[in-house]
Amino acid sequence: MSRARAVVALDGPAGAGKSTVARQVADALGYVLVDTGALYRGLALAAKERGVSWEDGPALGALAGALDLRFEATAGGPRLCLDGADREDAIRTLEMGDGASRVSRHPEVRDALLGLQRALGQDGGVVLEGRDIGTVVFPDAEVKVFLTASAEARAERRVKDLEARGQVAAFDEVLAGIVERDERDSSRAVAPLVPAPDAVHVDTTGMTLEQVVARVVEIARGAAAR
Ligand code: C5P
Repeated sequence: MSRARAVVALDGPAGAGKSTVARQVADALGYVLVDTGALYRGLALAAKERGVSWEDGPALGALAGALDLRFEATAGGPRLCLDGADREDAIRTLEMGDGASRVSRHPEVRDALLGLQRALGQDGGVVLEGRDIGTVVFPDAEVKVFLTASAEARAERRVKDLEARGQVAAFDEVLAGIVERDERDSSRAVAPLVPAPDAVHVDTTGMTLEQVVARVVEIARGAAAR
């Protein structure tokens, strides 16, 4: 392997606890965290603000290529910056989660964001969190973990997460959104949400956050030791 430090690919459906797990795993390993969903959310936000339809693949692809999307490291974790402005709070809404899922279906969008994701991880020492990291973005990642949990467990976590951000969300609505998003993410033609054949599956239903983090760190250290 040419990288001195590993690429850790952490994939899975919405609400499996990926974001929190990815952050804590990155901290435990001393790695940089890259939340790739934030890039799709940022694109959805930029499109909405510029009047570009979430259904217009070519226009979205062009917009993705023209935008300055980057992460700024802060004490509270990385924050998404869009054309120089911190938009982290604006992308963390149900609407932008839905928008991200819609814009991410277009091949033009996936192509435009692929190079950026590879550039962010190429030197290793990074935890990339997403849907297709182990299958498409870094098929040669040293560590691949696929996190799952029941739809109900995931909806419960999402509601708590949104509440912590001061947003009120009804459980049924969030659950329906998760089921719909799963369906859309798994059935799309380009880079569908499927585990890499060599990914280690971790079902987090009924596990505490600490247990999940410990398990993923153990997998990562085990792979690094090989
Ligand atoms: O993880 P997060 O909820 O921020 O992702 C929002 C949406 O972005 C997902 O539902 C998915 O459709 C899309 N996404 C993707 N590929 C990634 C990361 C996110 O298609 N690597």
